[in-house]
Amino acid sequence: MTTFSSSSSAPTESATQAAAEGTQALPSIFDLSRSDLVSVVEEMGEKRFRADQVWRWLYFDAAESFDQMSTLSKTFRNTLSETFSMAPLTEAMSLTSKDGSTSKWLFRLQDGELIETVLMRYETDGHRRNRKTACISTQAGCALGCTFCATGQQGFRRNLSVGEIVAQVVAVQRVAIAEDEADIGTGKRTKGELQGVTNVVFMGMGEPLVNYKNTVGAIRVLNDGQGLNIGARHITVSTVGLIPEILKLADEDLQINLAISLHAPDNQTRSQTMPINKRYPVEELVRACHTYADKTKRRIFFEYVLLKGQNDSIEQAQKLGRLLNGLHCHVNLIPVNPTSGGVYERPEMSLAKIFQGGLKQYGIPSTVRMEKGIDINAGCGQLRARVIDNISS
Ligand code: SF4
Repeated sequence: MTTFSSSSSAPTESATQAAAEGTQALPSIFDLSRSDLVSVVEEMGEKRFRADQVWRWLYFDAAESFDQMSTLSKTFRNTLSETFSMAPLTEAMSLTSKDGSTSKWLFRLQDGELIETVLMRYETDGHRRNRKTACISTQAGCALGCTFCATGQQGFRRNLSVGEIVAQVVAVQRVAIAEDEADIGTGKRTKGELQGVTNVVFMGMGEPLVNYKNTVGAIRVLNDGQGLNIGARHITVSTVGLIPEILKLADEDLQINLAISLHAPDNQTRSQTMPINKRYPVEELVRACHTYADKTKRRIFFEYVLLKGQNDSIEQAQKLGRLLNGLHCHVNLIPVNPTSGGVYERPEMSLAKIFQGGLKQYGIPSTVRMEKGIDINAGCGQLRARVIDNISS
């Protein structure tokens, strides 16, 4: 889904630098689980509670360097900085939309791979409070080859580590906190309204459930009450539908949201754009969703991009209604962005409403979102913006 050119990136990342200097890049501290951190801190001869302090500095305060961790002794800070890196990713480029609602970063990982992270800002709409949603990547590239997705066309590079996933949220958390503090300074919000990032969606580059272990590891770090403290109900994993991993996720005792990129109500249509459907047909996928919803008591979100003349007929709406009938779910209908290479046309709003009516016949709730003109996101980025708005309540 990336739309950036790598040639515009500037910083020299640490691995390249380390290679040039004949040294090894330090391991990232963000790759440590909380219990790993306790062991490491104790091995360094420090008391256990120091691990809690480091954790808080990393994730609650979103410190940028060990030097900022002022509650730790200078000696301990030095030991940490000689042992670990706090920069698993460096900013290669960032852009903010004209209306200021969306910022997008291209981050360079230590081995030079590039990933995207997005921060979406939503003002309160009366029903929902102000939100800041981070959309993060779990893989560099992707092997699943969905035909509408630029990342899929690039092929698979590698999975991201837990630290590389989490560090994206920490990076945007610094921005979000700075904005909150500026708002407090100008009286736009009160001190009690310091929120930072409120929601996280795993909807950036890559398929999170292919990188299952690190995705779940990252969710546990994001959810930790002493750190970023992102509530499980404010975390959404979006998948094209890997059935074994969906079933496994249902048993993780995590109250996160699951979003399924569906985009078609039948196998014939879906397999044309999403090769994964040949392995996991829609009926089996929906059965797995029932299991997930039954076990977690969570509503499932379905993403359905409306493509004029392809998947937007009333018959297809009714087919989708029958498919999802009886499932605790919500469908996000997203009229395709007409600028996406000109291959697909966007249906008129009136047709989208008729489609919505077809779903309603089967009691399936849905929302239609027209894009809000986000100037920095072409193609999939605009899709993401609208989907995120629906699910990050
Ligand atoms: S699984 Fe996601 S990232 Fe991978 S090709 Fe499909 S849409 Fe793109």
